[in-house]
Amino acid sequence: MAMIELPPPPRIPPRPRSGMRSKPEPRPLPRSLVPLPDETIPGYLLRLSHRLDQSPAILARATGLANASGLLPNKPLLRLTDAALRQFAFICRLTEIEARAMPLGSLGHRYIPLDLKFQSGRAYNWTGLRSSSGIPYVRWILTRDARFCPSCLAGNSDPIQLAHGGAWKRTWRIPFVFACPDHECLLSNRCPQCDNTLPGGVGLVHRPGEVLHPAQCRSSDPDADRDSRNSRPCCGFRLDSTPAQIIDPSLREGLLALQRRLLNILLADSPDLPIVFGRPGEPERYLADLRLLMILITQTWPLARNLDRPALMNELMDQHVETCNPRTQMTAPGSDKPERRPLSDIPPSGVLACATVIAIADQLLQHPDHTRIEELIFTMTSAAQRTPATELVRRNLPFCSAAFKDGYSAHWTALKATRRPRGKPTRPAKPEERGGAGFTDALRQNVAMTAVPTWQDLVEAGWREVREDGRVREELIDAAYAEPRLRQLFPWTGMGELHFSRCTGKRWTWDIPYIQPTANGGYWISGPLRIQSVGPAWTADEAISMILEHLPPGCGPAFVGTPEELAAHEAANATYRPAAKE
Ligand SMILES: [Zn+2]
Ligand SMILES: [Zn+2]
Repeated sequence: MAMIELPPPPRIPPRPRSGMRSKPEPRPLPRSLVPLPDETIPGYLLRLSHRLDQSPAILARATGLANASGLLPNKPLLRLTDAALRQFAFICRLTEIEARAMPLGSLGHRYIPLDLKFQSGRAYNWTGLRSSSGIPYVRWILTRDARFCPSCLAGNSDPIQLAHGGAWKRTWRIPFVFACPDHECLLSNRCPQCDNTLPGGVGLVHRPGEVLHPAQCRSSDPDADRDSRNSRPCCGFRLDSTPAQIIDPSLREGLLALQRRLLNILLADSPDLPIVFGRPGEPERYLADLRLLMILITQTWPLARNLDRPALMNELMDQHVETCNPRTQMTAPGSDKPERRPLSDIPPSGVLACATVIAIADQLLQHPDHTRIEELIFTMTSAAQRTPATELVRRNLPFCSAAFKDGYSAHWTALKATRRPRGKPTRPAKPEERGGAGFTDALRQNVAMTAVPTWQDLVEAGWREVREDGRVREELIDAAYAEPRLRQLFPWTGMGELHFSRCTGKRWTWDIPYIQPTANGGYWISGPLRIQSVGPAWTADEAISMILEHLPPGCGPAFVGTPEELAAHEAANATYRPAAKE
């Protein structure tokens, strides 16, 4: 049998798996738009959609901004990969430089939360916390709402802008931008018709399937009936017709000047360096300084209330603090007791409240009396001690300007120097705590300056020691420290009791009752002498009120010295007469 050579079987091409159809070659859009200065990608997409009469969803797919599921994620607002950026530029007929300027990440060299190097490549992001996911830390970037100036949204007299409106700006997504210097108004962040914040939803563009004017509100109209698909129709209000937010005359000039300075920093428009505590600071670090001060000021308000500023600003700050923590309403009227507040590492949602906190923080950095401000910052930090704010500030100091680091650290250094003879060895500072150039000088000057510690230094050191030795319940220390009349006394502990002395030296004055913990979680007040007793208290606050009732008359800040020196001082001045001493 002869073998017949068969031709090889034809090669069958593999069946295309479903959904794997070959992608059409991207082609540039027939018509496009030149981006406006400071325009965001979502805003550009809205104008393009209006110009081409195509929904933002279709354009997002065409330009490669949509994800694999065809949805519009938030990411293009922040950054695009090089390949995505080139594709977007090609399809929209833009130069690469034009396209590169549009994601918010392009402001990263001046605004650390947007510096994507910090976010993904480095161990620390702006929170100072380890960022494992590489997702940008968004609290200090307004990704879920946007601010706007109605007049800027309306655009200028250019025919393209007349037809499709002005830009939704990149800088409106940054909490440090609260006003429009061109139109001298506060930015808005709500639609006056539906009262929603903008854009009112997660994702690049809300309602991506609808073609609307770029200035129209895309939130759902709460008053309208649901349609057949059970969704509410769009509000549609023209935001460019929102009445401008007028700034109160007492704040107007100051806020607009501040806004101009901050915009110059953000957009690198001015060669002038910002001034921090009288020294030129690094522009890219100024907003980091402001942010930490905003947290400290809010956390310890009203400690920063006494600087000279328009009265309205203090009132706005009072209101802000009250709304950000309902517990502050429990403070007795007229009391200057700083409340322990939950940490608010978040810009205030109200534009005016946000502007107010920024302005107060800026006032501290710019104040001519640096010593006073350094002292104020020290007082605020002491009051915020053992709250998350202290840890947050410590972790974030590496991102701050050298002048801020020095100003912040100077008093702590001085305090450490006064504590050193008391025995505890101090650990060497970690590199991030050491600060930048000039820090060692500041350290030396401050140690020299405080060769004779003040009563505040010694009393603060006493409070720190009481906290650190852990022998007294923290709630009791908190309650005592929150009371100004006790905070100025020298605290010490023995046998689990908390004592208060009118002098800083041993063996202290024995003329104020002291507090012992009881097994049932309450307290017992005894003293002033060991043989005397006052009575029980169920809570730390109750215990503190009982101490306050038994304070000797004229009991002021702790005297620097021993009880004998205090007695001699009082005899010489004859201003204080103890009620009765045994
Ligand atoms: Zn404007
Ligand atoms: Zn609306």
